Amino acid sequence: MHTNQTLKSYRGRFAPSPSGELHFGSLLAAMASYADARAHQGQWLLRIDDIDQVRVVPDSEQHIINSLEQAGFEWDEPVYYQSQHIADYQQALGNLTAGGLIYPCYCSRKQIKALARDNIYPGICRETAIPDESADEYALRIRVPEQNLSFNDLIQGHYCQQLDKEVGDFIIFRRDKVFTYQLAIVVDEYLAGISHVIRGHDLISSTPRQMFLQQQLGFATPRYGHIPLAVTPDNLKLSKLSHAKKVTTDLTTLVLAARILGQAVLKAEDYQHQQDFWKHLFQIWQLKQVPKMEKIEIMY
Ligand code: GLU
Repeated sequence: MHTNQTLKSYRGRFAPSPSGELHFGSLLAAMASYADARAHQGQWLLRIDDIDQVRVVPDSEQHIINSLEQAGFEWDEPVYYQSQHIADYQQALGNLTAGGLIYPCYCSRKQIKALARDNIYPGICRETAIPDESADEYALRIRVPEQNLSFNDLIQGHYCQQLDKEVGDFIIFRRDKVFTYQLAIVVDEYLAGISHVIRGHDLISSTPRQMFLQQQLGFATPRYGHIPLAVTPDNLKLSKLSHAKKVTTDLTTLVLAARILGQAVLKAEDYQHQQDFWKHLFQIWQLKQVPKMEKIEIMY
């Protein structure tokens, strides 16, 4: 696993999963990460989180890329695909295993549900050794310490989680032989030299897990900022799963997104071209203006 990047310069990213069209909620995350990178004269990368091939919706990756292009986003490097980095995830898993932190888990969901408190894995397989060869199917979990992990979110402020009490030993490699999001993205951020992760609030509770993996793998921890999650008035997450509408990419939509992000942009008709909007947004962008809220209701 090689990376030439250091975290000295600003490198941000947007990392959609190709499980549907780009919707308004993901436009907010794309815009916030892009504008913050450009306001810091930083680079901004596009990553397609396609590790979980079962969830990939055919053509959605191309739709997302087309929508981003139409909206005027410009990424600085070729698109990064998780599916091309399986060997890197394998290597990271090998390092964690060598560190004695990984164990096989044979429990079914039903068993866990029956025994778990608050959905936290009760450690049934904790003392099981990884078999050299086995026909049985198992997942691989990582043992978490009794430790508080906290960080200073660039938007939400202080955030703290006690991994063993609030999350428990979590899965790194699934029974169906897929690396999990948590492991994959920690490796991805490292390989791409990402210094700043600006994303939706639904992922704030994953951050301590990612920090824990970074510590175990010897990777630097990026700065994190979590923007409010766009929800419908009946509190449904505007995600691809709830069949949110494909976002339009006209100036009115871009201006609305920037306003929701708390930025003092002009009216859509005051910008002649899309590029004038972006140029202005980069000049005035202030992350501290993004509302410090978990959710934000969108009538869209
Ligand atoms: N691919 C993830 C998603 O679309 C986001 C990953 C991240 O920003 O950390 O929900």
